[in-house]
Amino acid sequence: MEPLALYIHWPFCLAKCPYCDFNSHVRERIDQARFAAALRAELAWEAARLGRRPLASIFFGGGTPSLMDPATVAALIADATRLFAPVPDLEITLEANPTSVETTRLAAFRAAGVNRLSLGVQALDDVSLAALGRKHSAAQAIAALETARALFPRLSFDLITARPGQTLPAWRAELRQALALAADHLSLYQLTIEPGTAFEALHRQGKLVLPDDDAAAALYDATGEEAARFGLLAYEVSNYARPGAESRHNLQYWRYGDYAGIGPGAHGRITLGGALLATRRHRAPEPWAERVEREGHGSTEETPVEAPDRAREALLMGLRLSEGIDAVRFAARTGVALDDALEPDTLARAIEAGYLAREGSRLLATPEGRKRLDALLAALAR
Ligand code: SF4
Repeated sequence: MEPLALYIHWPFCLAKCPYCDFNSHVRERIDQARFAAALRAELAWEAARLGRRPLASIFFGGGTPSLMDPATVAALIADATRLFAPVPDLEITLEANPTSVETTRLAAFRAAGVNRLSLGVQALDDVSLAALGRKHSAAQAIAALETARALFPRLSFDLITARPGQTLPAWRAELRQALALAADHLSLYQLTIEPGTAFEALHRQGKLVLPDDDAAAALYDATGEEAARFGLLAYEVSNYARPGAESRHNLQYWRYGDYAGIGPGAHGRITLGGALLATRRHRAPEPWAERVEREGHGSTEETPVEAPDRAREALLMGLRLSEGIDAVRFAARTGVALDDALEPDTLARAIEAGYLAREGSRLLATPEGRKRLDALLAALAR
């Protein structure tokens, strides 16, 4: 049976960052008990229909899950490991922001069973952190990294690149400082302007200027070089890890495995009754909770994913990985032979240009191909 990854969404944040278009909400007061009960109820509902599948990972994402009551995290872990069949090295990740308040709670999350922390460092200079609207300082981020390093067997941190005014030497220095503190896993986010965000309005008014494509590409190349110095390899377009420290949860998405999504706005792809279902929960927190209280779940949509869409999705995800796509697994998961999912002329040209390569039964994007993956995929997918 396909192992399952479980995603649990905590939708609340202390403040809305000006670049963020995630499903995150700010409330004066959060009814922790109500949302804990609703998450546990929805998890039980999902588990009842999925059966006792092998569980490979649990991921608490958000929002800011480090604002959750650690007792809720412990209860959800206990529920999930009872309702599913956890693999021996079950990965349990929690995303945390490095404000001092949240850092004081890290030991409680570790005691609750979290064994991998993903820290939203974003930058290590105070000017950038203020410009990004973050609630923590560089010193607090460093303190959080040090505390987390001592507590968690596995540690990842996020940084944002292509920030306004960012220079190559400053970025290299910042990366080295962060990698020296926590060199297991790095997730890199390129700052982009998303519709409906505060940054979009500033950008439209000409008050926010991002580095151009060449400068952003140079920052990206420098990231790979600096990460490699610390033994972290680019195993995905924006993720770097020491061998063995890759995010097993995210590998499940990129390898097009099953994942169940619990909580407001959470998405899932689950195999049920021989079909692959795309699932989606109600996005707004309170209506989601009301629906769970009324019906046991907050689902708004459950749609079978047909073979051509499965093939397209598996292609989009799989070519992000440096390991690429295994043709045998691709056919088994999607019902479509890998070559039938590809435009043959584009494939031949991309291989000729050195953007794609075949290695045995695998098709993969080369480092040069991964830099232009969106354009490549747009032409490649049938
Ligand atoms: S903390 Fe994260 S999820 Fe919350 S608003 Fe900021 S970027 Fe978005």
